[in-house]
Amino acid sequence: MKKPTHTRLPTMECPDCRARMITRSSEPVTASVRELRLVCSDPDCGAYFYGQLALVRTVRRGPTPNPDVRLPFASLPRPANENMRTPANDVTGLGAAIGALMTT
Ligand SMILES: [Zn+2]
Repeated sequence: MKKPTHTRLPTMECPDCRARMITRSSEPVTASVRELRLVCSDPDCGAYFYGQLALVRTVRRGPTPNPDVRLPFASLPRPANENMRTPANDVTGLGAAIGALMTT
């Protein structure tokens, strides 16, 4: 049975030994930036870092956006079905044009 995961904290590889780093604590720096205290999970390495978690773009702001947080807008990723073919019963597309030719 898989061990339950209680949190999904962002993490990184240790740049020294490539083991997973553990976020020990964090504290806010601004409304859009937190400072993280990261420790290497390999006890033989023992590296210890400070990092930052920052909001850099937004897709959609909430109904009452914080005026102190100014972020550029990002577009949503393309939907997986964007390259779908035009349905055969499309009355305005290629299917309709071919259908018009076949009735003569
Ligand atoms: Zn390490």
